Amino acid sequence: VESLLGIDVGGTNVKCGLVSREGKLLSKKKYSTLDLRHSGRFVEGFLDVIAEQLDEHGKVGGIGIGIPGTLSRKRKRTLELPNLPELNGVKLLSILNDRFPTVPFYLENDANAAALGEYYFGKKKLPGDFIFITLGTGIGGAAVIDKKLFKGARGNGMEIGHIVAGNGRLIEQNIGKQGIIAIARDKMMNSSFTTTLTDDDFLHSKAVVKAAHDGDALALEVFREVGMILGEALVSAIRILDITTILIGGGVSETFGYVQESMFDVMNRHLTPYYLDDLQIELATLGNNAGIIGAASLCLANE
Ligand code: BGC
Repeated sequence: VESLLGIDVGGTNVKCGLVSREGKLLSKKKYSTLDLRHSGRFVEGFLDVIAEQLDEHGKVGGIGIGIPGTLSRKRKRTLELPNLPELNGVKLLSILNDRFPTVPFYLENDANAAALGEYYFGKKKLPGDFIFITLGTGIGGAAVIDKKLFKGARGNGMEIGHIVAGNGRLIEQNIGKQGIIAIARDKMMNSSFTTTLTDDDFLHSKAVVKAAHDGDALALEVFREVGMILGEALVSAIRILDITTILIGGGVSETFGYVQESMFDVMNRHLTPYYLDDLQIELATLGNNAGIIGAASLCLANE
C-alpha cells in the first residue's frame, strides 16, 4: 500500500512528510515559506515543492495539506490567510488537480488537520470532545465535538486566534510571533527586566524563545504575559464548549513551560472548580509533527 504525503503549510515553514497509513512519519523535509514567497509567486513555488516531493517519493496514496487560514466549505478554495495572503481567494484544489491529475488532494485548515492527527494517531487516547490550539506565526484552533471535527455553518469554526482579547486586539495579534516581538520590545522600553536581547530590526520571536530557554528575565516575562492572554482565550473556549481536554501544539508550543503558570493563574481566577478539577491541558503528543501527520490523515478520513 502506498504511503501518504502530509504537507503543513505555515507562515514560517512548509513542512512535508511521508507518512504511513498507520500514522508513522517516515521522512520529513522543510522549506522556508519566506523563500517561496520571495519569488513573488508562492503558488508556483508551492507546486514545485509538491513536484519535488513526488519525484523523491514516487507514487503516493494521496496528499493532505494543512492550510493556515480559512477554506470554502467544500475545501476547494482557500479564503483568508492572515499570514500567507498570496493564498487569499485561490481555487487551490483545481490548481493542484490540473498540475497533478492522478493524485488525490485533500485540503483542511492546519489546526483542524493537526487535531485529527492527534485524534487518530496521538500517543494518548483522546475523549470525543476536545480542543486543539496551535501557537505559531498565527494562532489556530480546532474543536472535536461528539467525536467529529466541528466546522460551523461556513466551515471555519473555532478560529480562536481571531477572537478579541480584553485589550481590543486579536489573540493572534497579541501572542502570535509578531505579538511576542511586540511584547518583548515593549518590555525593553518600559520595564527594568535584565536581558541579553536587543531591540533591533532583526528581533525575531526565535531569539525571544531562545533567550527564555537561557533563563533571560525579560524573555521569561514576555512568556508570562503570553500565558495570561492564552489563559483568557482558554477560559472563553471552556465556557463556550465545556470541554475537559485541551491540546497545545505548533512551533511556539515549546515555550509552554514558561506560559503555564500565568495561564493557570488566569484560569483559576475565572473558572470554578467544576471546570478546573478534571481539566487537562497538555502538549500535542505528536509534537511538532502533529501538523504533517494530521495533514496526511486527511487522506484516510476522506477515502
Ligand atoms: C488563521 C488560522 C490558522 C492559524 C494557524 C491563523 O492566522 O486564521 O486559520 O489555523 O493562523 O496557522
